[in-house]
Amino acid sequence: MTAPFNLPPAFAIQCPQCEDQALDEQHPSCPDCGFGLQNEGRIVLLEHAPSEEDYSVDGAGAQEEVRHSHFWFTMRNHFIIDLLSKVQNGKRGDRFVEFGSSNGLVMSKLEEQGWSVLGNDMHLSGLCNALPIVAGPLICAPLEKVRFVDPVEAVGFFDVIEHLDDDYGALEHAVEQLKPGGYLAVTVPAFQELWSQFDLILGHKRRYSIEQLDELFKRLSLQTVTLRYAFFFSYPIVRLQRKLIKGDSLSLEQRRKYYRPPHPVINTLLESLCRIELMLVKIGFRPPFGTSVMGLARKEAAGE
Ligand SMILES: [Zn+2]
Repeated sequence: MTAPFNLPPAFAIQCPQCEDQALDEQHPSCPDCGFGLQNEGRIVLLEHAPSEEDYSVDGAGAQEEVRHSHFWFTMRNHFIIDLLSKVQNGKRGDRFVEFGSSNGLVMSKLEEQGWSVLGNDMHLSGLCNALPIVAGPLICAPLEKVRFVDPVEAVGFFDVIEHLDDDYGALEHAVEQLKPGGYLAVTVPAFQELWSQFDLILGHKRRYSIEQLDELFKRLSLQTVTLRYAFFFSYPIVRLQRKLIKGDSLSLEQRRKYYRPPHPVINTLLESLCRIELMLVKIGFRPPFGTSVMGLARKEAAGE
């Protein structure tokens, strides 16, 4: 009998209860401790966030409305694909685990690029939104519960670790899931000086500089492959916007407004500027600032 969810053997996880047996769609219950994988439709459900009343759900709902139109989501995907073009010796079907995959905006793009992607998130509503646009397995659980039997080729956190108290711990767990020579890709909001109430609304604990992300890579004993600022041209606009909304308390309606795409003309203009940035980056330009930091790092292979 086939399980109602998909969790192919290549993404088999260790039993979260006894950590002794491998569980996947062909072996959904643990012969040692009796733990059985639950599911919500196609999603493997280990444990979901205790509250649906937090930012992510609101954010996920709002993102769902704008995902095809807001330049930031579209261009972040292009920037991420460019970042992953630095992965050496990658081949079609290599496994990628996206932690904090939410609505699957990035995951669907990675699948388009030929990665075999597993999405993990602790918010069920985001994963439900992802269902129609992604093909790969989805696991609803806190990330530390997700341990793979066979280490994977790549892992990624796209605007996730800034929400976590222990960013280092999350990355460390992810790096443990990587095979030697595997890659970690990260995007985070940049510059503490851009900190505003907007960050609080989004549930951010901090923003990062290139140096801080590099420091995290070093503490994890990873080789930094590339690190750069992104959304260079939006930086002055965001800086101004953050100044203007500072100190105000925003209602739910107001905060949704900030998720919506800007006026179509502005949206198209900003998208074009991001495309120019991407072209410049491809010929060696390193933006001196931006609203995001993007990094790619590699786990050392044996004998290196
Ligand atoms: Zn077990």
